[in-house]
Amino acid sequence: MTNSAPAPADPRLDPLSRATPAEAIAEATGADGKVNLLDLDKAGLEALFATIGEKPFRAVQLMKWLYHQRVSDFDQMSNLSQKFRDWLKASTEIRLPEIVTRQDSTDGTIKWLLRLDGGNSIETVYIPDGKRGTLCVSSQVGCSLNCSFCSTAKQGFNRNLTAGEIAGQMWIAQDALAHLKDEGVKHVVTNVVFMGMGEPLLNYRNVVTAAEVFMDDLAWGLGKRRVTVSTSGVVPALHRLRELTDVSLAVSLHAPDNALRDELVPVNRRYPLEELMPACKDFVRNAPRRHITWEYVMLKGINDQPEHAHKVLKLLRGIPSKMNLIPFNPFPGSGYETSSMNQVRRFQDILAAGGLRTTIRKTRGDDIDAACGQLKGQVENRVRRLDETVRVHKASDREASRADDGARS
Ligand code: SF4
Repeated sequence: MTNSAPAPADPRLDPLSRATPAEAIAEATGADGKVNLLDLDKAGLEALFATIGEKPFRAVQLMKWLYHQRVSDFDQMSNLSQKFRDWLKASTEIRLPEIVTRQDSTDGTIKWLLRLDGGNSIETVYIPDGKRGTLCVSSQVGCSLNCSFCSTAKQGFNRNLTAGEIAGQMWIAQDALAHLKDEGVKHVVTNVVFMGMGEPLLNYRNVVTAAEVFMDDLAWGLGKRRVTVSTSGVVPALHRLRELTDVSLAVSLHAPDNALRDELVPVNRRYPLEELMPACKDFVRNAPRRHITWEYVMLKGINDQPEHAHKVLKLLRGIPSKMNLIPFNPFPGSGYETSSMNQVRRFQDILAAGGLRTTIRKTRGDDIDAACGQLKGQVENRVRRLDETVRVHKASDREASRADDGARS
């Protein structure tokens, strides 16, 4: 396994489409000319193998080795012909992030700091809870959205993760859990949430490909309700998400009106609640078992008052919803304090009395700083936050206007 740089994304590609197999192969090809197999879903692997005249069943065989057996040594893939194995060795690789550190909490939570190319680092967290085990994956190095209460935001944005770098986080976690099983500790990944570093819907293509790999029975085989993409409200991508994949959705709300949300979640200035809420309603329309999980960080004296709770109820009326209240994890220089547990419970009571299913997120991994909002991978290049936000939003606007034109014609 190597750790060479992924190919830079082609700026001409439509950021809100699924990659075609040919585009996926081009994007998966590193500077050394080798294709990272972890960047490709089944369709991509089939297309890659077709280029050398191999049949589609080769993709099935390879995926079983990679994901069911977690075998990365081509020589061990005994049902592949020697000729095909030689080609795999010469032309492809399995490029995983490199583990820099691993921290194990006393409550079973595990946090990894993972190095990508060029000194970029991300964090991944595994959180066991009874029979459930949730892997929280990162989708970008840093983040461009600059939410005012978020420690990742303070780093700025560096780049999107490739699909393989996202899927590779699962590989690393599964590998670690398999070793724990050997030692008699039984943990499994039952759920994946895209709630680590980054705004997943600003890395739409790679997040969708990785989500497909998480859900594919030939890969990790998680049910579609067990893969949750979270967004702060990138509305054009939200419209497309439902069309292209079948994941569950979490939306970071954090404030019930535009004035406060503009301050806490600045992407709201571009896509205000008048646009976000209809997009969320569309997401759950005609999907009776589907609901939206809303994330709401509790900030003392800022968004935690009874009037805020009543406004939340009004805002979410008619949308099948579940609310997740998140006690804020203070970090130096944040300027915010966490709401008292009494205040959080009062807020919960108002929401529950209004018929909104509401949970308070348990703080996990306290001793290893693994809780929500504490992901702070080392990002070396911190400067491109604004440029990237403008670039992606312009691309999103182009896409939205194309969709409008299509709807009108
Ligand atoms: S809360 Fe999420 S979207 Fe907002 S800055 Fe942090 S990582 Fe980005």
